[in-house]
Amino acid sequence: MKNTKIREVYRQPLLVGNWKMNSLKRESYALTSGIVKYFAGIKENSFEIVICPPFPLLSEVKRALIQSKIKLGAQDCHEADFGAYTGDVSPSLLKNMGCKYVIVGHSERRIAYKEKNMTIKAKSEGAINAKLNPIICLGETLGQKESGKTLNIIRAQLRESIPSSANSSNTVIAYEPVWAIGSGKVPRPAQIQKVHASIRAELKILLNEFEAQRTRIIYGGSMNSNNGDELLQLADVDGGLIGSASLTVKSFCSIIKN
Ligand code: PEP
Repeated sequence: MKNTKIREVYRQPLLVGNWKMNSLKRESYALTSGIVKYFAGIKENSFEIVICPPFPLLSEVKRALIQSKIKLGAQDCHEADFGAYTGDVSPSLLKNMGCKYVIVGHSERRIAYKEKNMTIKAKSEGAINAKLNPIICLGETLGQKESGKTLNIIRAQLRESIPSSANSSNTVIAYEPVWAIGSGKVPRPAQIQKVHASIRAELKILLNEFEAQRTRIIYGGSMNSNNGDELLQLADVDGGLIGSASLTVKSFCSIIKN
């Protein structure tokens, strides 16, 4: 990847693999080990890499990550730290299992579980309290995009989903157009840059200039080895949230060419 970005501050690029509801115990160990091997020589402070497997595979993936700089993440959490919430997982348990990150507000959860911005805000706050870094997902639907509402929708989602305790060291924002997830369709690079710049402008209002310049804003939605290089060079794109292409060593690792 030729680095043509001109930035006022260095934001360490972040590549997050979201396995969703895929993989089994043995495969998860093999896939993680392959990724570890591929990135064994990665320069300190170049890319930060995170793997987010399903909850029951966290310890198996953690086992394969021993002595690696690759971090562990989860795909969701509850907002509370304990209690009568059958089937849910608390931020403090995720922290205890070795996670550094947790994805919150993924559009699949917003749609299937009707998660609202206020729930995502509460989950993000719970994560930060447990010393986990939330990756807060934002994204417009196809209908919203076609009616020209993208920037307004994204800014409103951000305002309503980000907790007051968020800052550039404990929170990541992910822009994921709903229509681009798993579809093979990707917005034009200029459009992605426009949305990311608008998220950063909103962060200036919500946090401050210093924090906004340092907060990582990653892109997700059909990112792969064919388009990753171009997207990762955009001035306000600080990494990727990868679904389908995170499920094999080759497709995940080849997103970072150099
Ligand atoms: C995702 O689910 O966050 C995602 C970006 O998926 P995909 O890469 O498959 O579009």
